[in-house]
Formats: sequence, structure tokens, C-alpha cells
Amino acid sequence: MPIYEYEPCAGDCRICKKGFTLNRPLSAPPLEKCPLCRQPVRKLLSSFSTPNIIKPLSVSQAKNAGFAIFKKVGQGEYERQ
Ligand SMILES: [Zn+2]
Repeated sequence: MPIYEYEPCAGDCRICKKGFTLNRPLSAPPLEKCPLCRQPVRKLLSSFSTPNIIKPLSVSQAKNAGFAIFKKVGQGEYERQ
């Protein structure tokens, strides 16, 4: 099942304020609005369009497998680990 990650929106909402991830079945289209506050949300990436693993078993395992791990350090900012 693909994992979709969504960017934080500007609203003050406990779901989308900090961004969130969703497991969605293949047949479901990407979410366009936050299910709680109805603010438009933007999909960051999915497991289909990027070689990065969003939730690897561990950082070291992912690194050993050749993945670059990025840690979210702020809104729209990522730090390479
Ligand atoms: Zn929301």
C-alpha cells in the first residue's frame, strides 16, 4: 500500500498543521483536502515516485541499503542525516 505524505498547511489544525502521512489503497486518489479542517493539502511524495523510504525500519538499515535519509527539521526544511 502506498504511503502518501502531505505538507503542512497554514491552518491551525491538529491533523495537517505539522503535515501527516496517510496509507491509502491504490484505488483511492490522493487526498486533496484535510479530512478535519478541509484546508487544501499538498502531497509531498509517495512511495511510487521516490526511492526514499518514508518510514524505514531504521536509519542505519536504510543507509546500508543506499538510501539517503532526510530528517524534517522545520516547515519545508529537511536535513540530510
Ligand atoms: Zn487540517
